[in-house]
Amino acid sequence: MTMSVPFVALNRQYLALKDELDATFQEIAAGGQYVMGPQVEAFERDLAALCGVPYCLTVANGTDALKLCLSALGIGPGDEVIVPVNSFIASAGAVIEVGATPKFCDVLHDFNIDPEDVANRITSATKAIIAVHLTGRPAEMQPLRKLSDRHNLFLIEDAAQAVGATYNNEPVGSLGDMAAFSLHPLKNLFVLGDGGFVTLKCRHLYEQIKKRRNHGLIDRNICGDWGINSRLDTIHCAIGLVKLKHFEKITGRFRHIANRYSTMLDSVVEVPAEQEHTREVFHNFVIKCDNRDALAEFLGQQGIETKMHYPVLLCDQPAATGLSSSGLDFPMAREINQKQLSLPIYPELTDDEIDYVISKVLEFYI
Ligand SMILES: *Cc1c(COP(=O)(O)O)cnc(C)c1O
Repeated sequence: MTMSVPFVALNRQYLALKDELDATFQEIAAGGQYVMGPQVEAFERDLAALCGVPYCLTVANGTDALKLCLSALGIGPGDEVIVPVNSFIASAGAVIEVGATPKFCDVLHDFNIDPEDVANRITSATKAIIAVHLTGRPAEMQPLRKLSDRHNLFLIEDAAQAVGATYNNEPVGSLGDMAAFSLHPLKNLFVLGDGGFVTLKCRHLYEQIKKRRNHGLIDRNICGDWGINSRLDTIHCAIGLVKLKHFEKITGRFRHIANRYSTMLDSVVEVPAEQEHTREVFHNFVIKCDNRDALAEFLGQQGIETKMHYPVLLCDQPAATGLSSSGLDFPMAREINQKQLSLPIYPELTDDEIDYVISKVLEFYI
């Protein structure tokens, strides 16, 4: 008997929280304030608390969050920013968008930025490091902090995939100089559309980004410095507040599924082992396996959808042609690229579906 296990099923979370979410839609629609307002402030307050920082600003999406971090730090033309070569496009795209140059570096066995390789890529033009917490696992922030202090660089977290993760008991979002998050529907905390936020500790930068996301307006009519429109809609903030109430449960379920996959599949594939000093949120569950393409095809025939994060390294993107670091060697990223496969993981996956995925992976290898 075959089952159908989609890689994502976003409507399931809506259905699980339907009553609360429907009440929220009605309240916002009837209330008549659709941009800014108390829900935005409340959501920002709760996110700041979750991330262990004094300040949070919601913005239109995670890419804007990264761009606003970079531009607030004065990063622009002539500057280089070190970016792991295995990440979503936006980690590099945001750097290009502010006029700076991404310098790719290799990753570690765990998919995250390799601090030693970062050290190799630092030049006199380097201004910042973007540490991506890929798959919901925190990057090795301690050595990165040391490096950035030694070379006087900014350390920016791309925490788009890692709301709720911790490193040495400290939440992501509080580990670098600033952090960018996404609330896109494919992330582990999501609203019903695009969304993002920035967390930070510096009041001055907070004030700056707060103005910049709202046209640079100081008040209704006066623009101090030119800005953009990158606000998060009131309705998304209200939805985010509902999601936050359930977030511990959501994260717990991600972790439970990851744990079950890991325990059951450990003997046939390489599973992402949890570490002592981190709490991971498993935005993706990426195995490394032999015969990856054949496994993916077999699982597909059995109704199980899988993906790769990411099939094309940043340095190999057509858009990256001509970047000086595109020609460098990234042995670990290339090895991962050959072996990786992401299995379905989301809180609403049923126990039967989880068991079915496990049984089919085992069936392939045994
Ligand atoms: C999703 C994502 C982004 C961009 O977020 P958007 O909200 O889609 O703009 C940036 N970096 C990483 C690692 C991501 O996964």
